[in-house]
Amino acid sequence: MELFSLAEFSLSRKSGRELDTVTDTSVINHFETIRGNPEAFVHSCLFAEWLLVSITGSEPSHPMFHLIGSVLENFAAGTPFWPVLCSGIEKALRLSGFAMEIDRCTKCGKSPVNSYMWDAASGGVVCHDCDEQAKAVPGGFIEFIRKSRSGNLEKIRKLQLWPGGYRQCLELMKDFAEIHLETKLRLKSLSVLEDLENDH
Ligand SMILES: [Zn+2]
Repeated sequence: MELFSLAEFSLSRKSGRELDTVTDTSVINHFETIRGNPEAFVHSCLFAEWLLVSITGSEPSHPMFHLIGSVLENFAAGTPFWPVLCSGIEKALRLSGFAMEIDRCTKCGKSPVNSYMWDAASGGVVCHDCDEQAKAVPGGFIEFIRKSRSGNLEKIRKLQLWPGGYRQCLELMKDFAEIHLETKLRLKSLSVLEDLENDH
């Protein structure tokens, strides 16, 4: 199997055994354009790396399967990659039960009104009354999460942020995920991606 091929497997398990045997496979989508484009490839690796650490096993399997397929389809279609990557991560976090709160203050539950104060540990945005230990985030980050929640990837991929905005979104989501998943996300593909982008 090539990396990032989407395939269907038939498995069988003999009684008393713990491992399944693959009895049949058929490839649904080769995603050859991903492997042929270094940028598409490294974004796909980054998304896969994120999922390897963040998937808890309790996610509903159909929505997660469709999300992965849809992210890869969008990567295969070419640039832009960053909006798809960040929205894919936002959607995956939600499916895993780790939604970032943007509609209510995570400390007092009131409407955050126009607050862009963020507290990753308590789960998201905080209102002006509760923002003592919070940090300011760009308003565009909150708006991006809102759009990512309600829009499909085909729509999100057209969304432009401020320069470096998606990189900043990724960092904020990484901080959030590390606290709530209680693990470090060492994303090796990220440095490869940065090298690739600096070469351009
Ligand atoms: Zn509050």
